Amino acid sequence: MQLIENFNFAGKKAIVRVDFNVPLNKETGAVSDDTRIRGALLTIKKIIADGGSVILMSHMGRPKQNPDPKFSLKQIISAVESNVGQKIQFADDCANADTQAAELKAGEILLLENLRFYEEEEGKPRGEFASDEAKAAAKKELKAKQKVFASKLASYADVYVNDAFGTAHRAHASTAVIAENFSPENKMFGFLINSELIAMDKVLKDAQAPFTAIMGGAKVSDKIMIIENLLDRVQNLIIGGGMTYTFIKAQGGKIGNSLCEEDKLDLALEILEKAKAKGVNVYIPTDAVNADKFDAAANTDISKTNETPDGWMGLDIADETIATFSDVIANSKTVLWNGPMGVFEMDKFSKGTSAVAHAIAIATSKGAFSLIGGGDSVAAINKNKLADKVSYVSTGGGAMLEYMEGKVLPGIEAIRGF
Ligand code: AMP
Repeated sequence: MQLIENFNFAGKKAIVRVDFNVPLNKETGAVSDDTRIRGALLTIKKIIADGGSVILMSHMGRPKQNPDPKFSLKQIISAVESNVGQKIQFADDCANADTQAAELKAGEILLLENLRFYEEEEGKPRGEFASDEAKAAAKKELKAKQKVFASKLASYADVYVNDAFGTAHRAHASTAVIAENFSPENKMFGFLINSELIAMDKVLKDAQAPFTAIMGGAKVSDKIMIIENLLDRVQNLIIGGGMTYTFIKAQGGKIGNSLCEEDKLDLALEILEKAKAKGVNVYIPTDAVNADKFDAAANTDISKTNETPDGWMGLDIADETIATFSDVIANSKTVLWNGPMGVFEMDKFSKGTSAVAHAIAIATSKGAFSLIGGGDSVAAINKNKLADKVSYVSTGGGAMLEYMEGKVLPGIEAIRGF
């Protein structure tokens, strides 16, 4: 497999799939968080420094028509320019940029308009269909058009670089199909995807014991695949957040009005049995901060998680659980965290999530490798100003989850072959 660090881009045009799906300020239209743009800088700068030229392509949002000014990448030109430190060119139509691409000189950067203005990008037909058969036929036709669209994008450049980890789990034209147009030596990952893969493989294939996985968030159903894949690897599994109560109820506890997936009770018991059989220590919250309604201004009280009073719901872990979890985490050598311990968006229910973030920082300071993924956990790490106190903060929520579930990601497979 070609490695970007070994490749000399001198005199080459590189088409680079980036994830510039950045949030915009609703009033001013300015980029409100440029983390994703900064994530691609190492790759862009390497190509320019070598004497190559860069054609950037990305999606933004979920446009339903072409063009759709609300989702135009024109809105991010100045944010890209200030990050790369130079003026960039813009192509109003990503599928008709032949001339601009051909005229691009060494050292120059061209940004293509939103790829998703074309339904070929995702390969999912838009609009209503009279029948399932009609939809299937439209999809088949669109798949053929997707190949043409991908070849068009490929025709702009000599080399393909994928650095959009956030969309690596999608089999889209620009993330996977395009790669068929390049020989193995002319396609590669950018630095961001490389570092994501190294961090995830360290945890999946090379974890030092004790390895603790912390799974939180609302639903067991969203995390079941990752939990199953991790049971063969971890020594400790910490459960938190809303999914706690599916486990508590499954074991006969009283959960009041707490979140519960009634149809996942058997599954929760199965997980516990599997964990036991594999010798994994499972830590489920023993006490909770309860609220009398789902509201930032709710009245609160503490109880055992299996004795939640009627009419109350558990919205955060409480002190006894915080102490147990913090101790397990701080003494781990590998930590993976995905999902908050409570409704951390509300101050009253954010203490448990912050405590976990701090415990991970402590473990890291003692030499552990820590990987944080998923929008909410990343937000909690940032809110607690701990991003530089953990080993790696992943940029791809869905992509990271799927990789950790053991799935093959189309965007990774297209270049690496697996
Ligand atoms: P997920 O998207 O599944 O990772 O879930 C994240 C969401 O779960 C966050 O918005 C949290 O507010 C929510 N959450 C965490 N703990 C609880 C809880 N105990 N009850 C209800 N919602 C929760």
